Amino acid sequence: MLQTINVDSALKDWAIEQRRHFHQYPELSGQEFNTGSYVRKALEEFGISIVEGFSEPNVIGYLQGTEGKKTIALRADMDALPMVEEGEKPFKSTVPGVFHGCGHDGHTAILLAVAKWMSSNRHEVKNNIKFIFQSSEEASPSGAQQLVKEGVLEDVDAIYGIHLMQNLPLGKIGFATGPAMHRAMTLISRLKESEGMEASRRQRWIQSIFLLI
Ligand SMILES: [Zn+2]
Repeated sequence: MLQTINVDSALKDWAIEQRRHFHQYPELSGQEFNTGSYVRKALEEFGISIVEGFSEPNVIGYLQGTEGKKTIALRADMDALPMVEEGEKPFKSTVPGVFHGCGHDGHTAILLAVAKWMSSNRHEVKNNIKFIFQSSEEASPSGAQQLVKEGVLEDVDAIYGIHLMQNLPLGKIGFATGPAMHRAMTLISRLKESEGMEASRRQRWIQSIFLLI
């Protein structure tokens, strides 16, 4: 049965503050050392143990459940993209050419907020929880493969991850099993437009690009 948990708005405000911090200080794949140490410090403050032995800047936290029969992993990625952020906002990226354009700042902030909530509501947490703050999602091979090789899932019964989606209305969530997202890619295409190129040909070319992506 679905159980509803009420979360007070202070935690939401705290999560927004964290997300804006990560947004201002984005780091590229494999270089999330400041993000990783920020996360580690926060987990330690919540009294969540850090599981050592995994490559940095990955950070793995562990919370013992009240029953502890199963271990559930919750995973967030931490890397930003080599992109220039446009527009003006008080928490705009301070790192030239690096931008949290894929929302991983939000993922890290959300998982930290979950860790904060669980650490202060331990009696509600039946299963053991493994918090996986993963480096290098946007690189190939991804940091996930590296962590799996290092054994991060060996004692895990189930794993959940999220990805923010701009095309979902506020307040809605979607579910998918299996692969659901792909990494960022660069597509360079040139259209040699000769004078008199028919509009329908140009349209077909544009459509084929949309099909590709
Ligand atoms: Zn992403």
